[in-house]
Amino acid sequence: MELNLLGKNVLITAASKGIGKATAERFIKEGCNVAICSRNQENLSKAAHEIKSLYNKEPLCIVCDINKLEDIVNTFKVVNETFGAIDILVNNCGGPRAGYFEELSDDDWDFAFKQILMSAVRFIRLVLPAMKERKWGRIINITSVSVKQPIDNLILSNSMRNAVTALAKTLSNQVGKYNITINNVAPGYTLTSRIYELSEIKAKQLGTTQEAVLSSMAEEVPVKRLASPHEVAALIAFLASDHAGYITGSTIAIDGGVIKATY
Ligand code: NAD
Repeated sequence: MELNLLGKNVLITAASKGIGKATAERFIKEGCNVAICSRNQENLSKAAHEIKSLYNKEPLCIVCDINKLEDIVNTFKVVNETFGAIDILVNNCGGPRAGYFEELSDDDWDFAFKQILMSAVRFIRLVLPAMKERKWGRIINITSVSVKQPIDNLILSNSMRNAVTALAKTLSNQVGKYNITINNVAPGYTLTSRIYELSEIKAKQLGTTQEAVLSSMAEEVPVKRLASPHEVAALIAFLASDHAGYITGSTIAIDGGVIKATY
């Protein structure tokens, strides 16, 4: 299927690794002007180099801690000065701290609030005026299956990502008339550094190996494997295309069937 995204200006946040990086690769492949940001220049350069070696075009890299307003404003400014107005915003973030309710402090909650909800609010606030003016825009938030089926030791993720889900649904009602869609992509177990980190924590808790945890995760999934980040990127690219112009305010799980609910 032709996605017809050639020449679109795309910003993907928190994208030096994992799903964000795979998404950057996908949009570069589609001929878009892609900007990525994350906190660490070295990781950004590594990602840019890898992407260039595949597609002979590299993303614009901007150092940005998405928990900081001034970094967000700077990222937006650099992308605008380099490419012009942003057509497609993919809001990603690092995974929040794992932990049960009793283990988390006010600081942990404040951090997760800035990391997950406020980063999305702030980037959306900046990109929206030009999208409205140009009467076209796509905003896609990467959340988690935890919005539909809470994960026991990820209470920060379960809580804050549902705030993003409600933000997207509420705002989609107001911006649909400008041909702007806002959706959430909710991945299940996806093979990235995040899943290695979480599986290591779980292995320590259970007194087992990381390999055993990863294979029991795969066993939980009806399709009996973990996702590739490129499969998640393909869904994001589809949602960004005109083929998906009638999908808005939705949360689409890409989870190999791991969510047990009917819908
Ligand atoms: P990852 O750890 O592989 O990559 C996260 C990226 O975010 C990295 O590039 C990192 O540098 C960047 N980042 C982290 N904190 C940042 C900050 N403050 N400012 C700027 N950049 C920052 O993670 P992933 O597996 O690709 O996951 C992406 C998102 O999807 C996460 O929010 C994660 O919780 C969620 N998710 C992942 C899975 C999974 O199985 N991998 C499942 C459900 C949800």
